[in-house]
Amino acid sequence: MTDLAQLVPYDEALSRYEPVIGLETHVELGTATKMFCGCPTTFGLEPNSAVCPVCLGLPGSLPVANRAAIEFTIRIGLALNCSIASWCRFARKNYFYPDMPKDFQISQYDEPLCTDGWLDVDVDGRAFRVGIERVHLEEDTGKSLHMGGATGRIHGADYSLVDYNRAGIPLVEVVTKPVAGTGVLAPEAARAYVTELRDLLRCLGVSDVRMEEGSLRCDVNTSLAPHGAADWGTRTETKNVNSLRSVERAVRFEIARQAAVLDAGQKVVQETRHFHEDSGSTTAGRSKEEAQDYRYFPEPDLVPVAPARDWVEQIRASLPELPAARRARLQADWGLSGAEMTHLSNAGAVDLVSATVEAGASPAEARKWWLGELARRANESGTELSQLAITPAHVARVSAMVRAGTLNDQLARQVLEGVLAGEGDPDTVVEARSLAIVSDEGALAEAVDAAIAANPDVAAKVRDGKTAAAGALVGAVMKATRGRADAERARELILERLS
Ligand SMILES: [Zn+2]
Repeated sequence: MTDLAQLVPYDEALSRYEPVIGLETHVELGTATKMFCGCPTTFGLEPNSAVCPVCLGLPGSLPVANRAAIEFTIRIGLALNCSIASWCRFARKNYFYPDMPKDFQISQYDEPLCTDGWLDVDVDGRAFRVGIERVHLEEDTGKSLHMGGATGRIHGADYSLVDYNRAGIPLVEVVTKPVAGTGVLAPEAARAYVTELRDLLRCLGVSDVRMEEGSLRCDVNTSLAPHGAADWGTRTETKNVNSLRSVERAVRFEIARQAAVLDAGQKVVQETRHFHEDSGSTTAGRSKEEAQDYRYFPEPDLVPVAPARDWVEQIRASLPELPAARRARLQADWGLSGAEMTHLSNAGAVDLVSATVEAGASPAEARKWWLGELARRANESGTELSQLAITPAHVARVSAMVRAGTLNDQLARQVLEGVLAGEGDPDTVVEARSLAIVSDEGALAEAVDAAIAANPDVAAKVRDGKTAAAGALVGAVMKATRGRADAERARELILERLS
């Protein structure tokens, strides 16, 4: 375990060292069937129920490549501005693990399907171009479950179980080139890249990109070198970082830890490291295998992949509007500044605001509710905006009621609260909680008269021309009507009566 007292404070570390990061992202493709057999890819099935001789590696079984998985990989490669190989092969990656029924994984080695692209990301208004080294296709492993220990890790477990349902699910690995020059923004840049890649993959329809279910998993490489050094430092690879926030924390921790190692005159060990969600720290895993340890060789049971050029061009022509282009369009449509759009994007609210506008709200109304009251409630309950129990159509309906004068902002917040609590749609909540503004002039006049009668001193001040004092009477009317009065109209009535 790293002694936390030995970490160099982040800012101090960055004053002496330059970080270089790199990200390897595994994406489970959303094909109906596995990479080399017809087994379903459905998440959460009974363990070892979605298996067959091919994905269990039984003798005599032969793999056949899934065309849809190859098409999805090409879509990803094209969206990441990569070159698509006209001919490439799968390779056997030999290693022995209980979750690997064949004792090798079919992957790609020196002939990846897609190479040499890029993805632009925005960090605090600064643009970084992240180079993409390669996008290759492989099969996922099974899943080991270590039972009896406290941590769920193999260390301290009584026994282990393995579920092969995941073995053979098509997996794409997107590997960046080393990303230098981000300086103090390295943790945020790593997070921004994974966020942008996730949004891109979702937009392409190739994966459900659920980090919490493991369909998007990140290995985060970090190295440090003294400012001005000719060479980059030795990198560590923090494995299977499973949330956007953790990606950022893992880089931040490794910078602080490696700075302490270098400050002490020691060398950073090239190794894989485990990230711990609870403490935000990393601990040493295994020392990193070199490529030669895997004894790669071309997979003899599969024909080469040779995507026809016209097929690749058809796929290119079918790409949807990508997230960056869409954001630029929406920013112009909605009249937002770059910073406002970044804020919306970082809050995960672009799709929600867009859908709310489509449902009839103005962009300003939609932004106000999603970034204000609803962001506050999501924050309080520790969930994402998109997981709140409210739809864009609900928010648009509440906006419409505010615009029509049926609700004021305070009442609208109560309606949102009711919808979130599962009391029904906005109209149902307004009805059930009697939240609509009192539009009956008689009832309002009654409340005004009562407020004047109950506050003779204030009323006298207003009569003497101190109209600012009327605020206290408006407050009394609002209180009496439980916030349901039209405050402007109440003010008019008060001034009329006391002039
Ligand atoms: Zn199978």
